[in-house]
Amino acid sequence: MRPDSGLVSEVVPSPNQGERVGPLDMLILHYTGMPTAQVALARLCDPAAEVSAHYFVFEDGRIVQMVDEERRAWHAGRGFWDGERDLNSRSIGIEIAHVGHDGGLPPYPDAQIAAVIALCRDILARRKIPPQRVLAHSDVAPERKEDPGEVFPWDKLADAGIGHHVPPAPIRDGRFFAQGDQGQPVEALQAMLALYGYEQPVTGLYDARTAAVVTAFQRHFRQARVDGVADASTITTLRDLIAARR
Ligand SMILES: [Zn+2]
Repeated sequence: MRPDSGLVSEVVPSPNQGERVGPLDMLILHYTGMPTAQVALARLCDPAAEVSAHYFVFEDGRIVQMVDEERRAWHAGRGFWDGERDLNSRSIGIEIAHVGHDGGLPPYPDAQIAAVIALCRDILARRKIPPQRVLAHSDVAPERKEDPGEVFPWDKLADAGIGHHVPPAPIRDGRFFAQGDQGQPVEALQAMLALYGYEQPVTGLYDARTAAVVTAFQRHFRQARVDGVADASTITTLRDLIAARR
């Protein structure tokens, strides 16, 4: 296997892959959530684990390719975005070595983020991937996943031209919606989340699913407070994102 990117320092093939179905038009970022990079890399090559990614980025910025971009890697699992369910077929997956929430969610090292940015830019220069389809694993699987987490610097990626981003609206006091609330304003919030791409049924009831989707939204777009409560800052940020997409 030949690397797809000149930034790859080593190829470590994973057997966990298959044929793509449909076009490639998404980029999904993950953290490994394991104690060490080596353990995570070994797992992504273990046939019994049945998981993989196209790329793996070490803490020091070294980049390994595991699956050819033309092939379907097994990183997203069950998920949904903007009407699509077979996200592995549509996406390139990058695993970023990081201990995750279980490891206390430390900041990502600068060298690692620089490498992730360089790799994303390289991929986006070669592939037709719209900005709003550069996503967190948590965006596409809000009830199952929380990676790459609220310390992942999406703003720095946006500064480098990667992904879709607006400055988060400042957090202020005022009306908010939380689990158990119902009515038209909740319906409107759900409709906006669904319009942006999240798997969010429009029921008018702020249930556990809605709280999980709002939490995922905050992890990506309003990182200062991740609590699943739709405050004015969260709603304004979502509205600004949708407006900026047109
Ligand atoms: Zn993941």
